[in-house]
Amino acid sequence: MNKLRPALGIFGGTFDPVHYGHIKPVIDAAQQAGVQSVAMLPCHIPVHKDLAPSAAKHRLAMLKLAIECYPQLYIDDREIHTSAPSYTIHTLQALRAEYPRHPLCFFIGMDSLHSLATWHEWQALFDYCHFVVCCRPGSQTTLSKELQQLLNERQVMTNNALHNALYGKIFLADTPLLAISSTDIRQHIQQGLSTNNMVDPKVRAYIQTHKLYQPSTTF
Ligand code: ATP
Repeated sequence: MNKLRPALGIFGGTFDPVHYGHIKPVIDAAQQAGVQSVAMLPCHIPVHKDLAPSAAKHRLAMLKLAIECYPQLYIDDREIHTSAPSYTIHTLQALRAEYPRHPLCFFIGMDSLHSLATWHEWQALFDYCHFVVCCRPGSQTTLSKELQQLLNERQVMTNNALHNALYGKIFLADTPLLAISSTDIRQHIQQGLSTNNMVDPKVRAYIQTHKLYQPSTTF
């Protein structure tokens, strides 16, 4: 069998705005998983969320600022530039066609693992990628029967297994617990509260300059 190529990381999200709870866990998880580079994949219209996100140009600009000092992170803008909702399965199919011999590692937070069964064609995702899961405070602590079974079948304890197969495994990384969400940040800004420990200063300055997430004025 041909030797596999280096694993590629993918970290999907709305990033509205990107925050330390995205960047720090994914850097740690990538190191633990032995993944050298991770594509930050902002979605166009999130399938799982009710609210329309901020304009693509703002989310992309903030993402660029937030990853500036992390050479292992780069932006894959394929989803954000489409005009339809983004389904992970379709993006993974496209990536697999481009990278037939690279293991694909899709990074998610623990809350996303708990809701994986709601994703479009979720079982088929395991035919395209591994999942590397970051800890996230506030995520459920009890596992559904379905999730427990999934872990029984697919969890690997060392990162070797992620590099010896193209897809199909779950690796739970031991990452710092950061109780930060984009929702909190948007609410803090609306209420005039500080976001100092949540967001990179360059992103904070961008938010201020472009007056993002301000309370809507009603008359
Ligand atoms: P929102 O509050 O708008 O729902 P969010 O903060 O959850 O947004 P997303 O961009 O929706 O951020 O998340 C993208 C990915 O990042 C998801 O897999 C999510 O689980 C993960 N993630 C977000 N915040 C954290 C965090 N604080 N710790 C670990 N993982 C996180």
